[in-house]
Amino acid sequence: MHKRILVTGGAGFLGSHLCDRLIEEGHDVICLDNYFTGRKKNIKHLMDCHNFELIRYDITIPIFVEVDQIYNLACPASPVHYQYNPVKTIKTSVMGAINVLGLAKRIGARVLQASTSEVYGDPNIHPQTEDYWGNVNPIGIRSCYDEGKRVAETLFFDYHRQNQVDIRVMRIFNTYGPRMHPNDGRVVSNFIVQALKGEDITIYGTGEQTRSFCYVDDLLDGMMKLMNKDDFNGPVNIGNPGEFTIKELAEQVVAMTDSGSKVVYQDLPSDDPQQRQPDITLAKAELGWEPTIDLEQGLKKTIEYFRENLD
Ligand code: NAD
Ligand code: UDP
Repeated sequence: MHKRILVTGGAGFLGSHLCDRLIEEGHDVICLDNYFTGRKKNIKHLMDCHNFELIRYDITIPIFVEVDQIYNLACPASPVHYQYNPVKTIKTSVMGAINVLGLAKRIGARVLQASTSEVYGDPNIHPQTEDYWGNVNPIGIRSCYDEGKRVAETLFFDYHRQNQVDIRVMRIFNTYGPRMHPNDGRVVSNFIVQALKGEDITIYGTGEQTRSFCYVDDLLDGMMKLMNKDDFNGPVNIGNPGEFTIKELAEQVVAMTDSGSKVVYQDLPSDDPQQRQPDITLAKAELGWEPTIDLEQGLKKTIEYFRENLD
C-alpha cells in the first residue's frame, strides 16, 4: 500500500539506499539530513522524482511532518566521525529519538530505530543474541555512540509502553557497500580505498579482532521486512553471521584489487570490541530474513563502486 515515509539520515550510506528502495516501491519519501556525514551526491539521482522531497534539517530539533512511517537513521556511524564531536553525537541519538518518537506519537506513525551491535559493547558472549545486555564502558571514547544508542532504545520501549507508540528496533551489525564515503573511516571502505590508491593498508591492533560484514542490499531487505511486519517490535539483530578477522579482510581486499599495497599495523583504539557476530535466529523466525550475499560478492560490488568514486 502507498505510504508517506520520512527517512532521517536519508542522504547517508544506508539512508540513500533506503530512499531508492522506497521510491522504487512508489511511496512518497521525505529525506531529512544535515549533511554531517551524508552527501547530496548520494541522492542526486532522486531529485527529479515527483515522489521525493529533501529537507536540510537537524534531527536534534523537533520537526512536524505528516507521514505513515519514520525510519530514524540520522547519526554518524563511523567511529572517526562520531568521535569528532561526541556531545553532538549523543544529542543526535537521544534528542533525535525523543523528536521522532514525539512526532510518531502525535501523528500515529510507525517508527523504526537504526540501533546497533554496539549496544553489546565488547561482548563476552558469542555470537550475540538479543537478550544479552552488553558490556559497555559508560565513559570511554565510544560511549557517546554506544550509550546514545542504548538510551535511544530505552526511549523507544518507554514510548511504546507508556504511549503505545508503534516502534521497531533493529540492531545493525557492520554493513558495507557502495556510497560509503571514501573518508568514512570504517574498515571496509578504508581498506578498499587504500588498496585502490596503492596506499598502506592500516590494520589497528593485531588484526585478530573479528567483525561480521553484511552487504547493504541484504541489510535493507531486513530493515524493510521489520518495518512492515505487524505485532513485532524487536529488538532484532540484522547482520551477516559470516565472521572474519580484520587481517583476513585486509588479505581479501588486497587479493581482489590486485593491489601492491602493504599492510601496516597501528595502535588499536581504546574499547575496540574484540569479537562480533550476530545470532540471527530471531530475524529468521520473525521476519523470514537471512542474508544472501557473501563477503566476496559484496566486496566485488563495493570495489567496483570505489574504482569510479574515489572522491
Ligand atoms: P552515515 O554516516 O553514512 O549516515 C548517517 C546520516 O545521518 C548522514 O547522512 C548524516 O549526515 C546524517 N546525520 C547525522 N547527524 C544528523 C543530525 N543531527 N540531523 C540530521 N541528520 C544527521 O552512516 P550509515 O552507515 O548510513 O548509518 C545509518 C544509521 O545506521 C546510523 O544511525 C547508524 O548508527 C546505524 N548503523 C549503521 C551501521 C553500519 O554498519 N552501516 C551499523 C550499526 C548501526
Ligand atoms: N580497523 C582497522 N583499520 C582501519 C579501520 C578500522 O583495522 O583502517 C578496525 C577497527 O579497529 C575495528 C574494525 O576494524 O577493530 C572495525 O572497525 P570499524 O570502524 O569499521 O567499525 P566498528 O569498530 O564500529 O565495528
